[in-house]
Amino acid sequence: MNRRKFLQATGLGLVALSSPISFSACGSPTRKTAPSGKLTLSFEPYELKLRHSFNLAKYSRTTTPDVQVRLEYDGIVGYGEASMPPYLGESVESVTKFLSQLDLAQFTDPFRIEDIHEYMDKVAPDNRAAKASVDIALHDLLGKIMGQPWYKIWGLNPEKAPDTSFTIGIDTAEVVRQKVDEAAPYNVLKVKMGLDNDKELVEIIRSKTDRPICVDANQGWNDKEKALEMCYWLAERNCLFVEQPMPKEMIEETAWVRERSPLPIIADEFLQRLPDVKRASEAYDGINIKLMKSTGMHEAYKMAVLAKSMGMKVMLGCMTETSCAVTAAAQLAPMVDWADLDGNLLIANDIFDGIKIVNGKVTIPDRPGIGVVPLNS
Ligand code: MG
Repeated sequence: MNRRKFLQATGLGLVALSSPISFSACGSPTRKTAPSGKLTLSFEPYELKLRHSFNLAKYSRTTTPDVQVRLEYDGIVGYGEASMPPYLGESVESVTKFLSQLDLAQFTDPFRIEDIHEYMDKVAPDNRAAKASVDIALHDLLGKIMGQPWYKIWGLNPEKAPDTSFTIGIDTAEVVRQKVDEAAPYNVLKVKMGLDNDKELVEIIRSKTDRPICVDANQGWNDKEKALEMCYWLAERNCLFVEQPMPKEMIEETAWVRERSPLPIIADEFLQRLPDVKRASEAYDGINIKLMKSTGMHEAYKMAVLAKSMGMKVMLGCMTETSCAVTAAAQLAPMVDWADLDGNLLIANDIFDGIKIVNGKVTIPDRPGIGVVPLNS
């Protein structure tokens, strides 16, 4: 099936035709018509084309492999997505293989989110982006059945969603200046570091703007003394925090930096899922939650609650993704200290309408589910 047919087949018209939902006296949703009782999963690869070559400390790329997913139940369609930046170890082949192994038709009640996750974890370990694609589609489906967006189901106030940062990748001075101009609508910038010209990059940005900068070293600093020196240098230049300053294996050295740093130290590559949060608290001040690491929204919500209960800072990030997965993540934005939800803005071929950035702030669509509508449907 080509992309157009895929999107047409999954358009919102199906939602409008779905069986109506009413609420019983005790407040729980009940159906007026009998559900078909079968979850149907379908998926197709979709290559994301990046607006700029994406240069990090360890590699560079111009595309991101991606798989678009839909989950249908009783005539209602939920959308999901797996994005697979190469460093996470998943691929179109691994994701489609995992999804092909799933038998979701066995679940007659789509609200059994915990059971579905337990089942997916039993089918195969890891495969976090593949599991996230199902989780996101499931949340979209359930939100549509309930007629509410997830931020409302979770009881969150959308006005508390923070500004999002806009990423300035490692590049030539000329391209960095151009990217700073492009980032004019954003109140917070994010800088990727971990090469020899880190300070030069910040100086170029500071020659154009004094807006606060979030720093992501992407494990690029191998020496704890150098990492600490950078934290002090960055703190004097209106930087907010430093994400993953050292390789994830260097836990003791990171803890050493954390004890002395004037800026909060945030874990990204160090952690993936819920059990990693407690481990992260030993060396980091906060965590960067991403749906493609956490297996989706269900576990991401638990991670945010746990981290906050431990007094940790919470950051919400994303990969290069369409507005599908970025808008799903945005449902959690009112819970977090910092948002880095610009993944959809970094691609040239988005296929959904969803999250908007208004005056630099994350703005969640007031639509049921994850809040996205396919473009060109
Ligand atoms: Mg990072």
